[in-house]
Amino acid sequence: MLGNAEKLFTKFLHLEDPWVVSSVIVDDAETRVDIRIRNNGRFEFFCPDCGVKCRGYDKREREWQHSDLFDMECHIHCAVDRMQCPKCSKVTMLDVPWADKGSGFTLLFEARAVLLMKEMPVNATERFLNTDHRRLWNILDRHVEDRMKDLDLSGLTRFYVDETACKRGHDYISIFADEEHRIIFVTYGNDSSAVARFRQHLEEHGGRAENIRYICCDMGKGFQSGIAMEFPDAIVTYDRFHVMEHMTMAVDRSRRHEWNMLRESGRMREATNLKGQRFLLLRNHDNLYMDQKDRISDILSSHPEIGTVYQLKESLRDTWDYESKYDAANHLLSWLLTAEYSGIGALRDIIKLVDNHFNEILNWFDSGMSNGVMEGINSVIQGVKSRARGYRDWRNLRTMCYLRSSGLC
Ligand SMILES: [Zn+2]
Repeated sequence: MLGNAEKLFTKFLHLEDPWVVSSVIVDDAETRVDIRIRNNGRFEFFCPDCGVKCRGYDKREREWQHSDLFDMECHIHCAVDRMQCPKCSKVTMLDVPWADKGSGFTLLFEARAVLLMKEMPVNATERFLNTDHRRLWNILDRHVEDRMKDLDLSGLTRFYVDETACKRGHDYISIFADEEHRIIFVTYGNDSSAVARFRQHLEEHGGRAENIRYICCDMGKGFQSGIAMEFPDAIVTYDRFHVMEHMTMAVDRSRRHEWNMLRESGRMREATNLKGQRFLLLRNHDNLYMDQKDRISDILSSHPEIGTVYQLKESLRDTWDYESKYDAANHLLSWLLTAEYSGIGALRDIIKLVDNHFNEILNWFDSGMSNGVMEGINSVIQGVKSRARGYRDWRNLRTMCYLRSSGLC
């Protein structure tokens, strides 16, 4: 005969036949509650292999952590029936309705943990739920894997791909996204095999390589050959955000060069002054305040070489403002000639890059692939990295990327 508390908890936990709460025990210090569930035996079980009705074989004692009840840690216990098939002798453990197979947590606990990990870093969730981060990652991995099964790429005709360093620079991961900023695939490495893995993933989720018409990426890295192999007919756009990133690096290089020269010739005050202007120089000129623009003009007029590189940066940015691809091509060509003619060493890399990828840069006029997507993905990744602090390897980053930005989790 069940008492009132047991009946109440049976209801709370949404248990139905054959499962009932048989006891609820609160410890003396009132920090922990243990709920025992039992099976009343009113059920039939059929062998998953041969469909024959099975007999009870034995019971296995199991425990699950549940969400806290009235600030008390809550654990659920049950001796779960194992059933044996009279025909093939297979022994099967019964599924319990409050937890996934193999998990040490109840479904409610897991749902709550996932909700928290969407909002806060894993190590903070770990403290909040008073559990171990390895177990939390496990919950998250299963949740994400389950949700990503619904990923439908059948309508995909264009994608973005970028890479990011994972764990202090040495290992890289590649991140693939669609037009709506959704992350659709994350894999290790940044070479052609990463692109091949994406193609396989695409096909596993209803997509077709032949349907991909446009790809946007950072061409400076190892994606080029992979794209040529897996998506030979796609039009590749060299992402504007990355082009400008490389250009900004050239500005910084020329500033450093000038700074070294000043130091070597003993002009320390001027050197220190220049050093302090780094961020001003690297920012988009249009976004500066009036007094900042004045300071920039001072630097540019007293350091002609930096001045030239800076003008080239602003002029390169103009490429994407033209109405037609033809005019943009003319602009980019004259940009190249001016840059080469300057003979400035700091420009060597960006000149090579623009020269080698002239067409891919201008393909933007055909694909119109939004440069904001790459920038958006970049900021998502920065956020993901801080949330996944202490992650074991690239798989944690992948899980976090899907959780935050797949739109499915
Ligand atoms: Zn069987």
